[in-house]
Amino acid sequence: MDIKPPVCHHCKHSGRIRRHGQARSGLQRYLCMMCNKTFQVSYIYQGHEGNIAKHVKTLIAEGRSREEICRTLGVSQRDVDRHIYILESE
Ligand SMILES: [Zn+2]
Repeated sequence: MDIKPPVCHHCKHSGRIRRHGQARSGLQRYLCMMCNKTFQVSYIYQGHEGNIAKHVKTLIAEGRSREEICRTLGVSQRDVDRHIYILESE
């Protein structure tokens, strides 16, 4: 899969981004050669996954527990954890 290199979260350059393995969450990590920092890109924010991410965000904002979110959205707790992890790391 050939995805377009993202923009660095730190210095906002996009010209010299290298792949830098994967984070524990399964996210692609990138290393910016301009500022020499790593960052992650939440490529799961697309289509169906993106909708779930939005719902998770809304439900968290409403103060729901992870168990409630799982039941409400019909996803596994692992998926909810993943979304929470991504939300918190942004
Ligand atoms: Zn950078």
